[in-house]
Amino acid sequence: MSEFRWDPLKSTWVITANHRAREPRDFFLDRQQIQTSTCPFCPGHEGKTPPEVFALRTPGLAANGPEWQVRVVPNKFPLLRIEGELGRRTEGLYEIMRGIGAHEVVIETPDHDRTMADFSTAEISGVLQAYRARLLDLRRDPRFRYLQVFKNHGFEAGAPLPHAHSQIMAVPITPPTTKAELLVCRDYFRANDRCLICDLIGQELNDGRRVIYDDGRFLVVAPYASCFPFELRLFPYRHGHDFALQDDADLDGCAAALRNVLRRLRNLLRDPPFNFILHTAPPMQPRPEHPDYWSTLAFDYHWHIELVPRLSRIAGFEWGSGFFINLMPPEDAARFLRGTDPDSSF
Ligand SMILES: [Zn+2]
Ligand SMILES: [Zn+2]
Ligand SMILES: [Zn+2]
Repeated sequence: MSEFRWDPLKSTWVITANHRAREPRDFFLDRQQIQTSTCPFCPGHEGKTPPEVFALRTPGLAANGPEWQVRVVPNKFPLLRIEGELGRRTEGLYEIMRGIGAHEVVIETPDHDRTMADFSTAEISGVLQAYRARLLDLRRDPRFRYLQVFKNHGFEAGAPLPHAHSQIMAVPITPPTTKAELLVCRDYFRANDRCLICDLIGQELNDGRRVIYDDGRFLVVAPYASCFPFELRLFPYRHGHDFALQDDADLDGCAAALRNVLRRLRNLLRDPPFNFILHTAPPMQPRPEHPDYWSTLAFDYHWHIELVPRLSRIAGFEWGSGFFINLMPPEDAARFLRGTDPDSSF
């Protein structure tokens, strides 16, 4: 079973996975790709995954059979497990708790060889519907403080299986990066009585230099202080703290924006590895010891998606200082992406 371990010097939690004995050779760089005949995500291999917890398929067809569009299954090798209690305790200066959580895989397409940039808007919308359905279900478990939806595309971005998929992790602690963003938004709201992200959207639209996509409902920009080349943020114009409360039209709009910029990235940068992360509000669990815990979230937080192509490595200076060096100013990144045809093939 994995564990959450607390580092008192770095003031951070680390998940230590120890449910499978690993050997040094497991860490040799290996780009061997899994073939369709053995891929557990391909149709006909539904029995190779745990039973599905959600699927989009033709009504009337049996679960865990073929003929699906999107399928969500528990991870067969979960980093976090759903059963049991946290058992939080100290070990001298350290703290430890059991790796309780949920770890699910969203299989985005039955087709082994198509990536999200190949999908229609309706297909991407189906993936977003799967995220929404799982977020609504997982938030019913009061142990989960945060539900993290993310996608790894390409080996360098952490996707050893080429078949298009994303993941959902339910964790018993609000992740520090999430919490920092939530607190910044709350403080801004308290000081200004406005949502920071609504204000950012307004400033980016006025400026225009970093805008890549704008259809009047969704906006994609290269962040002013991008850490990485071609880093992107996707914002809905309409204020809403919780992705899981968005309606089908919102998901369709998000899918259209995502498709547009994924195709631009693929065409401009020759299918780069990337990660995207859904930034949405934590489930608002009642906390007797914190009666006002996240109570202003609906006003001060604004869901969005952050996307980072993995084109550069984090080197010593960044690792040591936390200052990122970005060789592609976001104004240039946006100009290159605006100048790329999303509909051509690369
Ligand atoms: Zn496959
Ligand atoms: Zn807002
Ligand atoms: Zn964010």
